[in-house]
Amino acid sequence: MKQNYAGGCQCGKVRYEVALDLDQPVISCNCSRCGRLGSLLSFAPAEEFKLISGEGDMTEYQFNKHAIHHLFCATCGIQSFARGTNPKTGAEMAAVNVRCVDGVDVDALKVQKVNGKDF
Ligand SMILES: [Zn+2]
Repeated sequence: MKQNYAGGCQCGKVRYEVALDLDQPVISCNCSRCGRLGSLLSFAPAEEFKLISGEGDMTEYQFNKHAIHHLFCATCGIQSFARGTNPKTGAEMAAVNVRCVDGVDVDALKVQKVNGKDF
């Protein structure tokens, strides 16, 4: 079931609200970025993701096909979400690092491994 959550970076400059269904498995990706970061990802349509603060406090990084805008806090370095486009529908999406979402017990989540290394 979808619920509303709040989350953000470590230092608090980047804050957002997002609706996520964490009954669904979260994504553990082994690509050259996610594998290093240890991110656990859940996806939301852009209209269900609201950045409350921090737009001007983030640095953007892109690699590979430049499909995803990796945004991390320029102060504390934490990447709490990314912006991208659903490759099938073209819809704008937010990829939320659920490790950065308040009050989530990440050890209780179902995890689906994705072989992003080969994308
Ligand atoms: Zn920060």
